[in-house]
Amino acid sequence: MRAPVGVAEARGHVLSSCRRLAAVEVPLERALGLVLATAVRSHDDLPPFANSAMDGYALRAQDVRSANVKLRVVGSLMAGDDPGTMSVGPGEAVRIMTGAMLPDGADAVCMVEHTHGGEGSVVVERAVAVGTNVRRAGEDVAAGDRAFGPGEVLSAPHIGVLTSLGVTSVLVYPRPTVGVVSTGDELVNGPGPLPVGKIRDSNRAGLLAQLRADGFSAVDLGAVADDPDRLAETLREAASRCDVLLTSGGVSVGDRDIVRVVLEKLGGSRARWFQVAVKPGKPFAFCTLAQGGVAVFGLPGNPVSALVSYELFARPALRQMSGHRRLGRPQLSATADVEMRRVRDGRLHLVRAVVSAGDDGMLRARPSGPQGSHQMRALAAANALALLPDGDGVAAGDAVKVWLLDVDGLGAEAVDAAPGVVNA
Ligand code: AMP
Ligand code: MG
Repeated sequence: MRAPVGVAEARGHVLSSCRRLAAVEVPLERALGLVLATAVRSHDDLPPFANSAMDGYALRAQDVRSANVKLRVVGSLMAGDDPGTMSVGPGEAVRIMTGAMLPDGADAVCMVEHTHGGEGSVVVERAVAVGTNVRRAGEDVAAGDRAFGPGEVLSAPHIGVLTSLGVTSVLVYPRPTVGVVSTGDELVNGPGPLPVGKIRDSNRAGLLAQLRADGFSAVDLGAVADDPDRLAETLREAASRCDVLLTSGGVSVGDRDIVRVVLEKLGGSRARWFQVAVKPGKPFAFCTLAQGGVAVFGLPGNPVSALVSYELFARPALRQMSGHRRLGRPQLSATADVEMRRVRDGRLHLVRAVVSAGDDGMLRARPSGPQGSHQMRALAAANALALLPDGDGVAAGDAVKVWLLDVDGLGAEAVDAAPGVVNA
């Protein structure tokens, strides 16, 4: 039996075997969530011209150093108007709407709420300082500025800024294409009565869904029986169109555990089989194929173990390939709501947990349900994995580290659903 290795060591091996993908130019509308490969420099000012931040009157601040100054209204400007030769001279004002270009001569805007009159003349009720309610050209991004740097993850506001700057495509790291195959003689698909002894293949659907949720391109490679030749053929064929392959099942020490054998055949000396000192997710196989350096992750078969092992090894590797700098989930500290006991077995235990923020904003954690590695419902109910290092576990009130899987599920909502909208 192989000596167990820690999560960090097994992950380190995986990460050192997976290269970042080559950057590609992608149209901006398909770039959400991708990582910038180069800095984006701005050729233009944003805002492109000085404009009004308010509906009101463009004026010369030196004319309104005191309250209740009457100015002559010499024109009006809407957003989108070209002011042309319009200018604001001494004792004059121009009626101006939000977003309209500031006319020559004006250096401030008084909001309409602080004026009265307005036909032909306007009374400005309070003094106005230079620059008031003026958005200066380039005060968000100046021409020549580095708008964004390499490594930044493109969010909706990034897409907005880039669109404002007239950028239509960006150099980013692409989404890895990940093929998913299940193994097992016991697996069937679809509805209808199950043949005796068979179960539905749930790992494939779960892994495909998780990959898509994480922003990767997922390819369904189907399920294969415990037949080494068929599995090898499936992996070889898929390697020509995928960057990464995930298998589930067949990496333990059972009679039909063929994945390990197949990976050793395909990957030769690059194949590794780990007994990771973690629960769930102990058995794990990994290799890179000679064919294009495609990485193959042999995830365990038990459904909870398959997804947790994906979290521990595949997801960080895929994020690294996608150019991300933060590879893991955020690790936070919570207070255990109830005791979480465990036996000493030399492994890190990952407890499927519900983490919630109390009224005080502090995080609390409790198990989300039964912890068997076949009990998927508790993983579905969880928004975190609580880390119990080898030992006796924690008592209620003790601090416990958690990996947050879902931020929206944290609770302590800033916005509550309207009464009557939430179904019981
Ligand atoms: P194995 O490591 O192949 O022996 O699988 C361990 C356990 O996970 C067994 O109970 C399998 O039936 C189950 N299992 C394996 N693959 C899947 C799958 N694709 N969907 C659901 N359960 C599975
Ligand atoms: Mg199996």
